[in-house]
Amino acid sequence: MKAVIIHEHGELDKLKVEEVPEPKYTEDEVVIKVHSAGLNHLDIWVRKGRGNLNLPKPHIPGSDAAGVVVAAGSKVTNVTVGDEVIVNPGLSCGSCEYCNRGEHSECISFGIMGLTRRGTFAEQVAVPSRNVWPKPSHMNFNEAGAFVLSHLTAWRMLMTRAQLKPGQTVLIHGIGGGVALSALQLARLANAEVIVTSSSDEKLERAGQIGADHTINYRSVEDVAQNVKDITSGRGVDIIIDTVGAATWPIDFSAVRRGGKIVLCGVTSDAQAVTNLRTLYWNQLTILGSTMGSEEDLHQMIKAVTKAKLKPIIDSKAKLENIKDATGRMETGRQFGKIVIEVCR
Ligand SMILES: [Zn+2]
Repeated sequence: MKAVIIHEHGELDKLKVEEVPEPKYTEDEVVIKVHSAGLNHLDIWVRKGRGNLNLPKPHIPGSDAAGVVVAAGSKVTNVTVGDEVIVNPGLSCGSCEYCNRGEHSECISFGIMGLTRRGTFAEQVAVPSRNVWPKPSHMNFNEAGAFVLSHLTAWRMLMTRAQLKPGQTVLIHGIGGGVALSALQLARLANAEVIVTSSSDEKLERAGQIGADHTINYRSVEDVAQNVKDITSGRGVDIIIDTVGAATWPIDFSAVRRGGKIVLCGVTSDAQAVTNLRTLYWNQLTILGSTMGSEEDLHQMIKAVTKAKLKPIIDSKAKLENIKDATGRMETGRQFGKIVIEVCR
């Protein structure tokens, strides 16, 4: 079968498309013929080997996927051959203190497809059966293969961690990225008032079309936090969804209201940031870290998007052979929505 292969960490030229043996699977695993696989920022970090990552090589990246089950181990009961499915990319042991509590993304051995085991940028992928869920019927394969990681992450940030209530105001940095756009869609679903930022007027206009109430071009304003204050009559927002890190962290502390919440799920800028501790305690802020989501988060998110017939925003699609160009588009921040790799077509 064909797959995207990394033999060594580095730049885009380290992404190779090669023939490799079909995956082996255990009695608790299934093999999926991958129709579509969405790109995530994680795929860039995996290829670059960020954080002294030293994966067994050759490695196959890719976390999200939708496809059809082509083989199932003898102990698998939740799906059968021929089922149209999606993958929950979060890998948990199912038996530690945190898994027993239902907090699967807090698992002591938490991993992610395409990071801690071979991923989805391949014609076939072996996946633990508990990570295989039915494909939402209102989505096509491209949509279904590109929404789980970003929508699950955004759902947990907004609903589980920040406990978003209807009518609250949410600030989302860097609209255009996967999690940011998912957060916009889900916050609107919960009747929140949403402010988004970007350096691109075009992206801001499109964000407005899909429901952002207010937009701020952070390149053309002097003080983003002051703009947020102006929009909220001096109060600040209830919740900030931060996927950026060091570049937006100081803004967060000025733009959030007293008693407000800052939720961080990743860093597309730097991981080291200065925190204004005086603002933190005096304004009684809550800082929340968030990673992917639990099975309950996933269940609730899929139920909500299915009921609303909500679909992820698709930026573009590419063949497996064009993985370098597709990844380059994301790496330079040109995308608005998910980039989908069409694998088996
Ligand atoms: Zn566990």
